[in-house]
Amino acid sequence: MAVIQIDVDGVLRNFIESFDKNVRVDFEDRVDEIILPFDSWSIHDSYPMFSGNAGLHKYMYDEKPFEIFGRAGQLPHDPVGNLNRMINLLGHKHRFQIVSQSKGKGKAASMYWLGRHGCTISNVHLVEDQADKIFGEHEVPDIIIEDSGFVVKEFLREVVDNGWVTPYGTMAYLVKPESTPLLENTGHDIPKQKHFKVVNSFKEAVDDILEVFKDDIEVEAYEKISVLEAPTEVDKLIKESNE
Ligand SMILES: [Mg+2]
Repeated sequence: MAVIQIDVDGVLRNFIESFDKNVRVDFEDRVDEIILPFDSWSIHDSYPMFSGNAGLHKYMYDEKPFEIFGRAGQLPHDPVGNLNRMINLLGHKHRFQIVSQSKGKGKAASMYWLGRHGCTISNVHLVEDQADKIFGEHEVPDIIIEDSGFVVKEFLREVVDNGWVTPYGTMAYLVKPESTPLLENTGHDIPKQKHFKVVNSFKEAVDDILEVFKDDIEVEAYEKISVLEAPTEVDKLIKESNE
C-alpha cells in the first residue's frame, strides 16, 4: 500500500489568475506598479502595494480568501477529474491524501473549492507552512505530487537520508504547467534523483502512477463529477459568515 500525497495550488488549482484579477480591481489606481512576469513564490515582489508578506497574507487569507482561493479555476487538463479517476481505480489498494498549505480563512475557502469542483477525496490536511508538508498530522507519503521545488527537495533529502527504499518507482512529481507561465516556480536546486520526474500537468503524473500500479487496477467505476456551481447567494452567505 502506497500513500500518495497531492498538493492543491499549482497542481490542481490556479489561484494566480483570480488573485491578479482581484488586485487589479481593488488597487485600480496602482495597477502599473505590478511587475510581470512573476512566479507564485515571490508574489510579494511583483505586487508592491502589499509592502511584503504580512500585507499580502492579510489580503489573501483574511480579506479575499473566497474571491481568490474559493472562486479560483482549475489548472488545464481536468486535474480534479483525474484525481477522482485515480482514486476510483486505485483507492481500494492505496491511500490518497491532499496536503495543502493555507492560513486563516483560506482554509475554509480551500475546503469549499475542493467541494465545489467535485473532489471526492475526504483525506484533506491543510498545513500552515510548506515546511510541514512532509511531516505533520498526516501520514508520511511514499509519493508526492507537488509544484514546490522546495517541498520536493526536502522530501527527496529525507528519502536519501533515511535510505527509504521504494518499490514504487517515481517518488516525487514536480508539476510545472507549460500553459501557465505565471506559475513557473523558482526552481530550487533539486538533486538529480532517479525517483524524481518533472511533469507538465497533474494528469501526466496520474497517467504515470496508473501505469506503475496497473496490476492493482480492479474495477473502473469512474464517473465524472462536474463542478458544483453554488448559487451566488450561497457564496455570499458563506463569505459573510466568515466576516
Ligand atoms: Mg503548491
